[in-house]
Amino acid sequence: MNEELSKKLLNDFPQLFRNRHETCMQRGFECGDGWFDLIYKLSHDIEAVAREIGLQPNSPKWPKCMQVKEKLGGIRFYVFNFRNERIRALKDSAYEQSCKTCVYCGKPGEPITDGALCPEHARQVSIDPDFPPPFEYGKCGISVAVPSGSHTTH
Ligand SMILES: [Zn+2]
Repeated sequence: MNEELSKKLLNDFPQLFRNRHETCMQRGFECGDGWFDLIYKLSHDIEAVAREIGLQPNSPKWPKCMQVKEKLGGIRFYVFNFRNERIRALKDSAYEQSCKTCVYCGKPGEPITDGALCPEHARQVSIDPDFPPPFEYGKCGISVAVPSGSHTTH
């Protein structure tokens, strides 16, 4: 995911992603930009559940996301140290949606191996062997965003 979208997620959900310098989140959101809306909604809904069960955002028990990535064509959103059936259902729903959402642009798409493609992107990928992948491991937007000299103890 590109830097602009990644920063929006980190800025809007700082508590959910508070341990991003200590986990797989260092590598960024390992999926295409087309899934931004799904990830944004899932992040929002997870925090809403946490609020509803009485947690405060500064609580150590507030859900912590440790990795977001594409796996087997869908979104995997790993939450550390937080078991909750509603959050599990939210994640399952986001996964199912992502399997039908173009990884490049977010339009409805057909599932393929590495995420769904809309008809237009399916066409471009099929005719252009050099068409860039939706994302590259190690090159996601926030992967270099670890501030020097900062060490969080959250
Ligand atoms: Zn598309």
